[in-house]
Amino acid sequence: MVIGVAWAFFQKPFPELASFTTDWIQPLGRIFIKLLYLVAVPLVFSSLIVGMGSLKSVAELKSIGKHTFLIFLTTLVSATIVGLSLAYIISPGRKIEHLAVNQTVSEKISSFQHAEKSSETFIGAFSTLLPDNMVHALSNNSMMLQVVLIAFLLGIALSKMTGDAKNKILDALDAVQSWFTAVIHLIMSFAPIGVFALVAALELNSEVLLSLGLYMFTVVLGLSIMLFVIYPLCFTTLGKTKYTDFFVKSRAVLLMAFSTSSSNATLPLTLNVVKEKFHVPDNISNFVVSVGATINMDGTALYKCVAVYFIAQSLGVELTLAQLFIIVLTSILSTAGAAGIPGAGMITLVVILQTVGLPAEGIVLILAPDRILDMFRTVVNVAGDISTSLCVNGLAQRKNTA
Ligand code: ASP
Repeated sequence: MVIGVAWAFFQKPFPELASFTTDWIQPLGRIFIKLLYLVAVPLVFSSLIVGMGSLKSVAELKSIGKHTFLIFLTTLVSATIVGLSLAYIISPGRKIEHLAVNQTVSEKISSFQHAEKSSETFIGAFSTLLPDNMVHALSNNSMMLQVVLIAFLLGIALSKMTGDAKNKILDALDAVQSWFTAVIHLIMSFAPIGVFALVAALELNSEVLLSLGLYMFTVVLGLSIMLFVIYPLCFTTLGKTKYTDFFVKSRAVLLMAFSTSSSNATLPLTLNVVKEKFHVPDNISNFVVSVGATINMDGTALYKCVAVYFIAQSLGVELTLAQLFIIVLTSILSTAGAAGIPGAGMITLVVILQTVGLPAEGIVLILAPDRILDMFRTVVNVAGDISTSLCVNGLAQRKNTA
């Protein structure tokens, strides 16, 4: 990223270098983006169905399931509200007068602004989201939310099935998920070159850099509010855990989440700490932590809201209330569909951009600082799972003593 920034500034006075960048470096960035697109549909599709399909425990653990999902949903909605409010107040993208975009991008922006006027009501916007052809939706990158909705439908149906067929489907999709996770690792090994190429080809100036700094500040501030204000409100009241106790006992997990940027990689340690240090019983900790590692990603949802707002602002697009509602909805749904691996949030960000009709190329802007922000948001994702385990346990104890 640093080399990319240096290149972008260095090439400015030399026209020959600029054409070298366009002909040789920019395509590398495009390849990287295309590879990310390539895996988005199968990854979201398989991990969401596996996540929903294996929820037979919801029936078994009726009240645990209900409490868990209620808390997941409440914190997810809070995260999107915190993210959008901060993005609105700080407005990191406003600093950029006009981001240099190519013609196709400008065309997409104007068609977006045009389309925006036709969908005025929430229900109207939602009715256009529903797909009527599964194969068409699955083969179309711009219909990612439809893919998520289909996966939800298939996943819920699968969770209601019993017997051999269900297990076969789950095993197969689980294998597909691991397969695509391996593909992501491969693609991510190309990330340094991809990020360099994308940044080097950007028309960087101090305005853009200042905005990126402000954008990072907005995301980190939002994440801090979740970690130090919203979660403590939950675990000190419902979870009967002291403020400092939470951070002292979960310190190792949060550090692990920070350094791996992966909720999945942190999962064994999270489980261990929730059981051993917070003394949450097995039936609650196993359920909340493992489902939470994929579904409950407040940090990722918050980051996506700020990122979409930032991208829209820097492209000079005003978002309507209906659009904001769609951003919240898609952030929550696509976050549930994101695997707990490095960069998953950024990949599923494409879902939101395409759903609200913003050019997915906008992702170029926020790619550069993504690795660092991934570390911070993963900490919040994992802290959310611990906090929810404590709350569900607190509620279960209350019920038992009542
Ligand atoms: N890295 C995050 C996690 O594993 C997901 C993301 O936001 O990219 O929780």
